[in-house]
Amino acid sequence: MNRPRVVVVGGGFAGCAAAVSAAKAGAEVVLLERMDFVIASGVRAGRMNYNGKLVAAEEAKALGGGEIFEALESIVLHRANIVDEASGYVYNVIAAEPIVRRVVQVAGVDLRLEHRVTDVTREDGRLKAVRVGRKGLVEGDTFVDCSGGAGGVSICARYGGACAMCVTHRCPTFGDRVSIATKAGAPEMVLRRPDGTPGHVEAGMSLYKASLDPVLLTRLEKEGAISIPLPRELIDATQLYSIGGVRSQRQMEHLNLVDIGVVAKCVGNGAMTPDQLRKIPGLERAVVENPMGMGRGNKINCISMAPREDTLRVKGYVNLFAAGQKAGPMGGIAEVIVTGILAGHNAARAAAGKELVTLPRSTAIGDFISFTGEMMDIPGSLNLQYSFAHLDYFEKMKQSGLYTTDIRAIHRRIKDLGLTGVLAQKLI
Ligand SMILES: Cc1cc2nc3c(=O)[nH]c(=O)nc-3n(C[C@H](O)[C@H](O)[C@H](O)COP(=O)(O)OP(=O)(O)OC[C@H]3O[C@@H](n4cnc5c(N)ncnc54)[C@H](O)[C@@H]3O)c2cc1C
Repeated sequence: MNRPRVVVVGGGFAGCAAAVSAAKAGAEVVLLERMDFVIASGVRAGRMNYNGKLVAAEEAKALGGGEIFEALESIVLHRANIVDEASGYVYNVIAAEPIVRRVVQVAGVDLRLEHRVTDVTREDGRLKAVRVGRKGLVEGDTFVDCSGGAGGVSICARYGGACAMCVTHRCPTFGDRVSIATKAGAPEMVLRRPDGTPGHVEAGMSLYKASLDPVLLTRLEKEGAISIPLPRELIDATQLYSIGGVRSQRQMEHLNLVDIGVVAKCVGNGAMTPDQLRKIPGLERAVVENPMGMGRGNKINCISMAPREDTLRVKGYVNLFAAGQKAGPMGGIAEVIVTGILAGHNAARAAAGKELVTLPRSTAIGDFISFTGEMMDIPGSLNLQYSFAHLDYFEKMKQSGLYTTDIRAIHRRIKDLGLTGVLAQKLI
């Protein structure tokens, strides 16, 4: 008997998690990625588990979807935090892509790189197939849109300064992002900055380590993370909202340098010119590695979100799901992985004709998915990106008692709700 087939579009962290989750449930899974590597943004990320992200990672493990978190924990480079963050670690970004790709392949997923989906076909109100340019159609029973919400070139030029040539998305080489939910006719929602401009500016950039002052570099490689107060003229109070609000005001008053392995990352500064950077002590000879054209801007994000239910099924569609930045105003690796795990599992359930799972609001993951879904339902509210670690949502976690650093308590909470291993069930 043929197994039902789940087709996942986009091999960022959300898509990898969705594919692994659907495969564990017993579906045949095809993962289509437009570039020649997986994890996209994750190749210059690295920072995990700080603040409420720890809760999300541990809940995911308890629910039965811990593979990618555990893989990243096996390549930890530092236990380190910038200001206003606690309990974080940094993974080695060079080791991340191969190890996540291996998790996907071990799960039995048919990963097809350089497969950029350009359109969809529908029949009797259902998605039937996706078109991969001239390579033809890939049919499926259910589909998960994990195409993210970044770029492409014309978006970054229109709402940023230019295509800043980021190493994470490489649109000039592999072609712009295409959303299958949008192609299927779902509304496309955008986050807006305070001045109404669509999308927000990417918060991260990275520097060649060899261009840092040697004393600063030695300290950075020893401590893992350093927050350097910014000269007054470089502090811009509006910057926090142009990057979607996923930092604290105090973080915005610092250059937060993190050793992610091959390069040093600056967390939260969005776009600065190389000349501005060189005004910071220790960075007098700094050379930017990503994005290459940073003096002209940075990648534009959160430009394509699909309204969806708490099951992560796209509203109005029977066999289309969304995860990651495609599924709401969220940013961060933990955030997109946990949505991927649920969307992939539910896509397998839908393909097998089984009832879908909704996670209760007494879990941080369930609450976050419901909360970000609600934000999409409130007209005019899409101006912040949410994460388990920052501003409003982290505050909400603390107030509702969902935040703790007691790992055993997190696992116990999932057990008491009768949810241990619920997303690892083999259904087919
Ligand atoms: C420079 C940088 C640093 C960051 N640092 C951190 C950090 O330290 N910690 C943290 O928690 N978060 C960090 N983030 C944020 C985090 O990495 C992202 O929020 C998250 O990885 C987004 O995952 P995603 O899968 O939703 O989207 P994406 O990573 O954008 O993945 C979408 C994927 O879909 C593919 N795709 C798009 N269209 C198609 C198509 N039509 N056909 C096939 N494939 C398609 C793309 O090629 C891409 O691989 C960082 C982000 C960046 C850019």
